[in-house]
Amino acid sequence: MPIEYDAIVVGSGPNGLAAAITMARAGCSVLVCEANATIGGGARSAELTLPGFVHDICSAVHPLAAASPFFRTVPLERLGFEWIQPDIPLAHPLDDGSAAALYKKVDFTAEQLGGDSRAYRRLMAPLARNWEDLAIEFLQPMLHLPQHPITLTRFGIPAVSPATLLAKYLFKREPARALFAGIAAHSFLPLEAPVSSAFALVLGLAGHAVGWPIPRGGSQQISNALATYLRELGGVIELNRRTENLRDLPKARAILLDLSVWEFLRIAGQELPSRYRRKLQFFRHAPGIFKIDYALSSPIPWKAEACRHAGTIHLGGGIDEIAAAERDVSRGRIPERPFVLVAQQSLFDKTRAPGDQHTLWAYCHVPFNCDADMSDQIESQIARFAPGFRDCILARHKMSATDLARSNPNLAGGDISGGAANLAQLIARPILSPTPYRTPLPGVYLCSASTPPGGGVHGMCGYHAAGVALRDRFATREQ
Ligand SMILES: Cc1cc2nc3c(=O)[nH]c(=O)nc-3n(C[C@H](O)[C@H](O)[C@H](O)COP(=O)(O)OP(=O)(O)OC[C@H]3O[C@@H](n4cnc5c(N)ncnc54)[C@H](O)[C@@H]3O)c2cc1C
Repeated sequence: MPIEYDAIVVGSGPNGLAAAITMARAGCSVLVCEANATIGGGARSAELTLPGFVHDICSAVHPLAAASPFFRTVPLERLGFEWIQPDIPLAHPLDDGSAAALYKKVDFTAEQLGGDSRAYRRLMAPLARNWEDLAIEFLQPMLHLPQHPITLTRFGIPAVSPATLLAKYLFKREPARALFAGIAAHSFLPLEAPVSSAFALVLGLAGHAVGWPIPRGGSQQISNALATYLRELGGVIELNRRTENLRDLPKARAILLDLSVWEFLRIAGQELPSRYRRKLQFFRHAPGIFKIDYALSSPIPWKAEACRHAGTIHLGGGIDEIAAAERDVSRGRIPERPFVLVAQQSLFDKTRAPGDQHTLWAYCHVPFNCDADMSDQIESQIARFAPGFRDCILARHKMSATDLARSNPNLAGGDISGGAANLAQLIARPILSPTPYRTPLPGVYLCSASTPPGGGVHGMCGYHAAGVALRDRFATREQ
């Protein structure tokens, strides 16, 4: 069979598009094969509830994209793409009607934390000053020679600590502890687990460096901008083309798979050497999520003023309650009071809903592959901090683990991270190697969130995987 393309990318998620763009920029002919009828994987939007209400199907808030070295190489502004910075990146309401909040400035955030101001400033300020160096270090495979060893050590010591331990050691009061625990819960790890603090540090520092922005018009606009850029570079995207077997693809010099480890095993399992296959079979899922999108008649009547100005809200009360919920989830139990992540994009982006109406994006963590309907628990958590919330609901759209997997095979069991981000799987993702993107099949590379640096919309898995493919297959052409 003659070679038809230099590179074929399976999957048009942010990592697939990043890989395709990187290959095309190096002069390769590129075909992207996408199973879905729309591009974007985890960065898509649609009218899920009522006409005119634009909901983010998956990702909503994008500190990692804003911080991503890959995204900085894309001429987003020229492509008509715009980040919106909510007034406050993140608020975390408490039962007394107050809220802790993450503001753009470290000092201002610290000042609002009362008795924990000094501790917050001491933890975050030196790291925030070195954010650029740090971001380069953790947005690549863990097995690498550090370019900034001192900065990395200063980050690494608190980062490997369990979040509950670090928060309770550093902070004396509930607002700072709860704020830290809520951000750490993005890890999907029990908050007593090593490296759960890393997520609080990375996302907190990203908030101080680049904010927690939302895309004007919805996260689909991220994918549309990347796809337009890819097409300008000569790339071709075919939709409704699900790859069932690696052998069915046209012949290419490099194949980059924006697939989870499990989807990779499904389409190529028999061809993989048994030792490598066993390593992949050993790779563990993260817990799942249950998601709801709402069309609302008015903004949410939060008790705490900060919540009325924040793009993202974390609901789970104090640190012990959040830790208990995440512990339950990791043990396969449904939490009575789950930790809920909320985004209220339409407060800052009028394109999301008609007139004075609003959208709301919310999800909670559940055990892997759990199909329980969590809408009551999610609504109770919102109403706890915003009495009257239920009166604003015009329509709901729910997505369980099964619905998520149906919308994207990479989300099997409701795992939105491409596999658990525990210490072992941060180091060996999915295998222990400085170039874990390379598979034993010649010219075949993994480039999804199952590779470093892991989940989130940042494109860095695709960017690095394409870099390895270019070095391996196109050494003379690399730019
Ligand atoms: C509900 C939800 C909320 C999230 N919120 C955020 C957030 O706010 N911020 C953030 O940064 N991240 C968020 N994420 C995570 C983020 O969306 C993912 O980490 C990211 O999209 C992973 O990118 P990817 O390119 O690796 O894979 P994906 O985005 O999953 O893309 C993979 C693509 O491959 C396609 N595909 C799969 N199998 C095949 C096949 N066999 N043949 C052809 N095509 C195939 C899929 O249809 C999909 O388009 C969220 C995810 C979900 C689900």
